Amino acid sequence: MKVLKFGGTSVGSIENICNVKNIINDGEKKVVVLSAMSGTTNQLVAIANNISEKASNDAIDKINKLHETYYSTIDNLISDKNLNEKVKNHVTEVFNSLVECTYKEFSELLENKIVAQGELLSTFMFNCYLQQEGIKSALLPALDFMRLDAAKEPDIKYIKQKFAEVLNNTAEADIYITQGFICLDANGEVSNLQRGGSDYTATIIGAAIVAEEVQIWTDIDGMHNNDPRYVENTRPISNLSFDEAAELAYFGAKILHPQTVTPVRTDNIPVRLKNTMNPEALGTSITSNHIENGIKAIAAKDNIIAIKIKSARMLQAHGFLKKVFEIFEIYETAIDMITTSEVAVSLTIDDDRNLDKIIAELEQFALIEIDKNQSIVCLVGHSIVNHQETYKLFQILQDVKIRMISYGGSKNNISLLINSKDKVKTLGKLNDYLFELVTL
Ligand code: ASP
Ligand code: MG
Repeated sequence: MKVLKFGGTSVGSIENICNVKNIINDGEKKVVVLSAMSGTTNQLVAIANNISEKASNDAIDKINKLHETYYSTIDNLISDKNLNEKVKNHVTEVFNSLVECTYKEFSELLENKIVAQGELLSTFMFNCYLQQEGIKSALLPALDFMRLDAAKEPDIKYIKQKFAEVLNNTAEADIYITQGFICLDANGEVSNLQRGGSDYTATIIGAAIVAEEVQIWTDIDGMHNNDPRYVENTRPISNLSFDEAAELAYFGAKILHPQTVTPVRTDNIPVRLKNTMNPEALGTSITSNHIENGIKAIAAKDNIIAIKIKSARMLQAHGFLKKVFEIFEIYETAIDMITTSEVAVSLTIDDDRNLDKIIAELEQFALIEIDKNQSIVCLVGHSIVNHQETYKLFQILQDVKIRMISYGGSKNNISLLINSKDKVKTLGKLNDYLFELVTL
């Protein structure tokens, strides 16, 4: 069986929902994972924020507006009178329960329950729509099988077993619809796989059923070789290896959840990125094959903070880095890039929640300098570290100020840290010389 995931825009308008129906209705049995309709999760997060700030009137305003939007979508999508009424009743129950949440004490669990409603609504509506269209579909409730373990990782053994059970107990159908993003935590409470997590749901299910393929349908023709938001003439990449895709998902234009390929790589299950608005386009195919042709893609990640840690104690001393890393470990802050000299080490983080505490601890034994507003520009391709063309990078970037460079950490990635104000210029220059073959 294949697993097909459709993102927020794919279920965000009547036209796109129709496209989705046409894509999945090919006579093959499949699992369909849906996101919330575009904009819904943002609104639900905003509603939860209002509740935490005790601004219940603002929350209720947002709930009412969203309720109206859903009513008009239902009227445009579901003409069958009985089904229309059934969906509206269900949706009204959900929105009434959201209003009840505004009287409750705020907690993380309450927020998780609120943001889970987006996927619960989209799947319920879509299932009824398929029934109206005479397609045999069934809902598989994600909360009956999707669970995280104590380390907040997907509990694949549990998911495998529960998914099989749920499938067994569900009436035979051609299309099995389930919710992306939502799951239970190790204590059995409602949780989620973080924003953009529906991609991750799809590959977790793909791994659990050892799917033939996982398809991620979005609103772009696959992964592009540069960021289309900042650079003109970007092109879709036809093939990526799991390694390359993992690097790009983390650094890239938020097309994929960073963990997307993790569950499927051991079983070598291919992942294909496709465009709901242009199903004919080939998209990007992610497999274990390495195709060697130099730098394939450039991506950038903003809001990076560089921390320089300088200490005379580092000179020929062992255990210094351990001491530094331990501090980041205590404050659960991931380090992305790192470069060292004999007396200093520079590293980057993208999560500044505990920055002040981290600095205070580091200052006990080192001089600290912080540079905010940095961007990591990452170049990805198979074995680019040894590629004969890679030396050109230094020529191309001769007038860009590089704060850090990471070369050789893996063969498939070269990362540069630059000031964010230089990002657009840097991405454009790299694009011209590497992909548009402007000569130096
Ligand atoms: N609805 C969730 C979000 O907006 C998950 C997803 O769309 O992948 O983040
Ligand atoms: Mg997404």
